[in-house]
Amino acid sequence: MDLNQLKVAVVGAGIGGLAVARALALRGARVTVLEQAPEIREVGAGLQVSPNGVAVLRALGLDQALIATRAVRAGAISLRDSGDDEVLRLDLARHAADQPHYCVHRADLIEVLADGARAAGVRLRLLHKVDRVQPGPEPVIDTCSGARLKADLVIGADGLHSKVRPALNEGSAATFTRQVAWRAVLPETGNPSPEVRLYMGPRRHLVTYPLRGGTQRNIVAVEETPQWTDEGWSQEGDPAALRALFAGFGPEVRELLSRVETVHRWGLFRHPVARDWQGEGVALLGDAAHPTLPFMAQGACLALEDAWVLADRLAMADTMPAALAGYQAARRDRAARIVAAASRNAWKYHLSLPPLRMAGHMALRLGGRIAPGAMVRQFDWIYRHDVTGGAMVETPVPEVAE
Ligand code: FAD
Repeated sequence: MDLNQLKVAVVGAGIGGLAVARALALRGARVTVLEQAPEIREVGAGLQVSPNGVAVLRALGLDQALIATRAVRAGAISLRDSGDDEVLRLDLARHAADQPHYCVHRADLIEVLADGARAAGVRLRLLHKVDRVQPGPEPVIDTCSGARLKADLVIGADGLHSKVRPALNEGSAATFTRQVAWRAVLPETGNPSPEVRLYMGPRRHLVTYPLRGGTQRNIVAVEETPQWTDEGWSQEGDPAALRALFAGFGPEVRELLSRVETVHRWGLFRHPVARDWQGEGVALLGDAAHPTLPFMAQGACLALEDAWVLADRLAMADTMPAALAGYQAARRDRAARIVAAASRNAWKYHLSLPPLRMAGHMALRLGGRIAPGAMVRQFDWIYRHDVTGGAMVETPVPEVAE
């Protein structure tokens, strides 16, 4: 398809929305992003961007800008038991030099993507909350302030509570997983090792890694709990309650949590992957299509992959229906497989019966000793999947901040 002058409206200026906006604008489309928030910003939290996500940033010409934010290149993922002993070490240095795994601040990634979108000519419209979308030959967007907008293509990149998804799919209920995530970012002193550490205990686990050149540290702690009311980011938690939850863990975890001053809690819900990701003049991507639990650290990476594939299919296919159908066919099974793997990991990390936990940790230890390479390679289907095939979008050269 000739994307030149194609009018595209992207709903949501998150990771997936900004990435697809840049990808399409670089190919000549006229892209407007509608964002409900008053500014483009992100909560203070960390994010792992594995090689499959980095491949998309590279193809979009934004990987160097990400590195310039002092993203930390992780050398390993270390799985530990609750007493700090290493159970399994996944040596990420086994990946090729051009397959880095970064720990980044979400705000930095959003800024890099927003700068990249603007530099490609994308118009960002803030305070535009979309109420509903009607598919059709000229799809229509109604905003909550009563405005009606039209485009040739509407892309729903509006996250977990998407208003675009219901235009293509029946409503589907989310189920509470009985897990709550606690998130905090701490100032870091000293010289932290550049690795992701995951401490596993009965009915809870904690993930931590350095951010911004090692000057900050991200913590995500997950506990099992029977009740939760709402799904969202913004509930403030009590640091003392978090410390109490992990009081039985070793000194490393206790020391980290002793420094937490502000923490937010977030109920984890399981959502089905959308059956239909596309309709007449409308497509979904990222969490709007396939919300995932955070236990594979892949939600943002999948959104980046979707963004690339959608733009690529639009550029390669003869017609929009063929492009959108090809996009869904290329993406749905992979996303569903990763969403399912993330659901399984929650259970594995939290083994609470001592015999089961010992057996599970023993199996991991043995695997790590006997075949360390194989332990890393089991994730190749996720990390080494390059949807760009090493491509780079051609000019114009991005003008992102140094
Ligand atoms: P979002 O980032 O949610 O963006 C949606 C945007 O749409 C927002 O800007 C929102 O304001 C806007 N919007 C919503 N509704 C409307 C509307 N009606 N009108 C206009 N605008 C609207 N992923 C990783 O890859 N690695 C990780 O390490 C990782 N860790 C995680 C840890 C936790 C605890 C959690 C909760 C998630 C984690 N994720 C991780 C997942 C990742 O954050 C999400 O999958 C990712 O942000 C999805 O991107 P998105 O662009 O689809 O949606």
